Amino acid sequence: MQISTTATTTPVDEARLAEILANPGFGQHFTDHMLTRVWTPEQGWHDARITPYGPLTLDPATAVLHYAQETFEGMKAYRHDDGSIWTFRPEQNAARMVRSSQRLAFPELPVDDFVECVDALVAADQRWVPDSEGEKSLYLRPFMFASETFLGVRPAQHVTFMVIASPAGAYFKGGIKPVNLWLSETYTRAGRGGMGAAKTGGNYAASLAAQREAIEQGCDQVVFLDDQEFRYIEELGGMNLFFVHADGHVVTPETGTILEGITRASIIELAGKLGHAVEERKFSLDEWRDGVASGEITEVFACGTAAVVTPVGELRSPQGVTPAPASTELTMRIREALVGMQFGRTEDTFGWMH
Ligand code: PMP
Repeated sequence: MQISTTATTTPVDEARLAEILANPGFGQHFTDHMLTRVWTPEQGWHDARITPYGPLTLDPATAVLHYAQETFEGMKAYRHDDGSIWTFRPEQNAARMVRSSQRLAFPELPVDDFVECVDALVAADQRWVPDSEGEKSLYLRPFMFASETFLGVRPAQHVTFMVIASPAGAYFKGGIKPVNLWLSETYTRAGRGGMGAAKTGGNYAASLAAQREAIEQGCDQVVFLDDQEFRYIEELGGMNLFFVHADGHVVTPETGTILEGITRASIIELAGKLGHAVEERKFSLDEWRDGVASGEITEVFACGTAAVVTPVGELRSPQGVTPAPASTELTMRIREALVGMQFGRTEDTFGWMH
């Protein structure tokens, strides 16, 4: 793939960059460049270019603004102590974007092209990858949208793929702290035959009213239940869940309507290697509540690119509070194994780092 580059003539100066990287927050500051590639039926994917970061000019009739034909990915670049820069299983993000694209009636961007585009932007903006101190990283946001100017409801005939990047601080400032969860009994995130397994903006728009409720209840994230019976655990607004049992076996919900996280998939493999049987199955709210009450469930944790792995604190709902189980032993072991690999402090026995 040919990628043309027009370097910015106004890069952020070193002093300002140092200031940003010292305290990046999340999703607030963007690097000097962005990558764009376009698809049309006549030419397929073509015209990959890296250009100075800046606003897009969109016709008000651009299809994505009306029908939300959009899909995105979230991943990170990590700097190791020797200065080298790595991503974590980027081909998995690429493969998920292909699956999302199939659901959103988009053309598929080949996995190798996706990875090449991400690598090229990281290379262009490598000075923006923070050092590993405090688990900082460069957050990468590949996304695809319907860029055709047309108000008819049909798959777009002009599609744009982009990659932007934003330095990210540690998810937990001042040490790991359990996330408290709000159980949504009003809203679901996804339904049978819907888009739950795709990473598309509409799913996040659908989660915001529930997220607002969670914040009002002093919680960090929403737990979504299945849309048929309001009985089975799906996932959080932006993370997957795991339940550790007293005999060591681990359960993670599988319903067909969750977003299958790259962290989730990695933990399934890792926990297996650590000697824990892992089940992907329907897991009910009652099993959670009863299991914590009886001591059958010894740990509950959430996972995703942002926080990697985090203990779950309280589950709050109008019916009352389910407390956090006392232990976080396996949770922290898994967390340290993944973070160690990502920052190059422990051996990557899986070959996951790129
Ligand atoms: N579920 C949802 C709804 C998410 O937005 C995310 C974050 N991408 C996850 C789960 C975790 O996925 P990953 O491990 O790939 O970040």
